Amino acid sequence: MPRIHSDLHHLKTSVDTDVSVSAAPTHAAASPVSRRFVLARLGMAVGLVGVVGCRQLVRDPSKDGTKILVATTGMIADIARRLIGDEFQVVQLMGDGVDPHLYKPTRDDLVQLIRADVVLYNGLMLEGKMQSVLNRLGEVERVYAVCDDIPHDVLFGGEDHHPDPHVWMDVTLWRSATQRMSDAICLAYPELAAKVQGREDELVAELAGLHEYGQNAVASIPESQRILITSHDAFQYFGRAYGLTIQAIQGISTESEAGLQRVNEIVDLIVDRKLPAVFIESSVPRDTIDAVVQGAKARGHQVKIGGELFSDALGSTGTYEGTYIGMLDHNFTTVARALGGDVPPRGWKGQLSEHTEQ
Ligand SMILES: [Zn+2]
Repeated sequence: MPRIHSDLHHLKTSVDTDVSVSAAPTHAAASPVSRRFVLARLGMAVGLVGVVGCRQLVRDPSKDGTKILVATTGMIADIARRLIGDEFQVVQLMGDGVDPHLYKPTRDDLVQLIRADVVLYNGLMLEGKMQSVLNRLGEVERVYAVCDDIPHDVLFGGEDHHPDPHVWMDVTLWRSATQRMSDAICLAYPELAAKVQGREDELVAELAGLHEYGQNAVASIPESQRILITSHDAFQYFGRAYGLTIQAIQGISTESEAGLQRVNEIVDLIVDRKLPAVFIESSVPRDTIDAVVQGAKARGHQVKIGGELFSDALGSTGTYEGTYIGMLDHNFTTVARALGGDVPPRGWKGQLSEHTEQ
């Protein structure tokens, strides 16, 4: 039998005979039959069925006891871990330094997504290459965009008529996302609600402290130097919340390229304002920033790389910078220090890695 027919045959028999699927937590609007149908269609569409078999894609959590929450980015996964403690297994699809704008789900990711009890993603088209899979999955599973409760009038316009998705850069907006994550988890697992809400309260209080630190850190920079120059446009919310003018060389998505004219405009700005530093980003190649540094040098102004900022991904797993709070603490502290502000050497909580000159 040709391969495609054998896959289809396998899919059909697996779906027809699989009984465990109806016991899995189903979306309120989806009957077991439609869930089964959409998962099968999804598995087939992404070529999974021939690899793992449909039976393995659908799982009965009441039998194996594990609850799985899948988060796309580290910023979401970290908050989810804080909220749910050891009650779930949190699977994070995008690792350290991964660019979410360009990320395409792997087959393993698709298996994880299909097997998840709850899926949390950023939304606002951050996960541009995953959106259609997430939409399909949302027809039958508990799939939530964590930015959905943020009022539209506080969002910046982005590219292709989509809002700017980099909302985690403003701690007050990420608090809203945190509350939505908590609501989603409580809705899926009411038996955990009291614990989750207690952890949410603690987290919200901590985020308030972090936000205040960010405001004080930026306020310590001399006013004429409160300009943040980075590669791609991930910092508009950061700038608005903490009082920095943002000048990015590329657009909002890393898919757009920087033009020579834009590089020259940035060089003019650096030279005119005698800015001390520009910044590279952990998830974006640094060549455009290097071009700006060289351009300024050719005009007789030495501008340094003020450090590497975390824009679209957390720092290394297992470090303080590998948490949402550590990520923002690092960004506040690095920006303020390089632009002439006065901040503690190891940040808000004294937990940042030692600073080394770049
Ligand atoms: Zn980005």
